[in-house]
Amino acid sequence: MGGMRNTLRHPMEQHVDSKHVSFAQSRCFNHAQREAAARCPECGRFFCRECVSEHRNRLLCAACIAEETAKAQLDQKRNFGSLRMVFRIALGVLVLWGSFFVIGKALLSVPSTFHEHKTILEDDWDSS
Ligand SMILES: [Zn+2]
Ligand SMILES: [Zn+2]
Repeated sequence: MGGMRNTLRHPMEQHVDSKHVSFAQSRCFNHAQREAAARCPECGRFFCRECVSEHRNRLLCAACIAEETAKAQLDQKRNFGSLRMVFRIALGVLVLWGSFFVIGKALLSVPSTFHEHKTILEDDWDSS
């Protein structure tokens, strides 16, 4: 990437030539008879134009694209796993809360004295 800009900024033929030659001497990793046209930024190997393709605004070789996609899928799986964990925790809390609610309800309905007290209070309120 930076090399291309350097060739434009510094028209020093010698420097450009030496760079150009070194690049042209490199052959495609997959095609030994072809000159390299691009360098994969991921693995640093040289490839011909056919062996690289754009992946997320970068020119990557097929192997690195496959690796990137595999990584992305792994990340997705990991995200899904954590989501399931959160869901499980939420479910656990819900079950716990539900059991407390049921226990509380049972405790409220059991003592009859509480109800009696309540009705007395209500009667007082109505008479006054
Ligand atoms: Zn690569
Ligand atoms: Zn190639």
